[in-house]
Amino acid sequence: MVAETLWPTRCAVCDRPGTPLCPDCIASLPYIDSLLACPRCGAPFGRVQCTECNRVLLAAFGYEEPPYRQATSPLVLTEKVRRIVTVYKDQGERSLARPMASLMARATPPPWLDDDAVAFVPATAAARRRRGFDHAEHLARELSWLLDVDFAPLLATPRRLDQRRLGRAERIQNMREALRVLPGATVPDAVILVDDVCTTGSTLFAATEALKAQGARTIHALTFARA
Ligand SMILES: [Zn+2]
Ligand SMILES: [Zn+2]
Repeated sequence: MVAETLWPTRCAVCDRPGTPLCPDCIASLPYIDSLLACPRCGAPFGRVQCTECNRVLLAAFGYEEPPYRQATSPLVLTEKVRRIVTVYKDQGERSLARPMASLMARATPPPWLDDDAVAFVPATAAARRRRGFDHAEHLARELSWLLDVDFAPLLATPRRLDQRRLGRAERIQNMREALRVLPGATVPDAVILVDDVCTTGSTLFAATEALKAQGARTIHALTFARA
C-alpha cells in the first residue's frame, strides 16, 4: 500500500496516473487488421501474398511451412508497443498483464477457444530471477481465464536463450536445442501457445516443434505484438 501511494500506477505509454494503460492509449495503438493480415503467420499485410511465411523464404531455414497452424497478434511492435512490453517485463509493472491479455483475447480467432490448453514460452531462469516473474506465464494465466481454456505449463525453462548475435537460421537451431517439453507433462492435442512478442518467429517455431514432437497436433501461436 505504501509503495502504491508513493508510486501511483501510471499509463505505460503516456504516463498519466490512474491505470497501467489508459483508454486513450489503448485506442491509439497500432492494431493489426485481421482482414489484411496473413491468415497463416499473422504478418500485418500478408493476406494476398505474404513475404514472411512463403515457401521460398522458409526453405532457407529448413521449413516448407510454419510448424504452427496459425499465428496472430493484436499489435505491430512499434516504439509505443515496445514501451508497454518493456514497462511490463523489465520495470516489473505486472498489472499490465491484464490489459495486455485483454487485447490478445480480442484478437483470438473464435475457433481457438476449442483448444485444450493455454501454454507459454518460458523465460530463462536468469531472466525470471532478474524480473521476479515470468512475463509470458502471467499473460498465459490471464488468457486462460479470459478465454476459459485450461492453463498448462507445458514447456521447461530453457537453458540458454541469448539470440542477439544470431541470424534467423541460427536462432531457430539455438531455440530448438533450448526448448523442451516439461518432463512428465502430458501434451494435449490442441494448444494456444503464448509469448509476449514475435520478432523473427524462431522462438514460436521451436516451441511449436517441441510440443508437436510430444504429441500436439495443432498449435495456435498468440503474441501481444509482432515485428
Ligand atoms: Zn496513456
Ligand atoms: Zn505469412
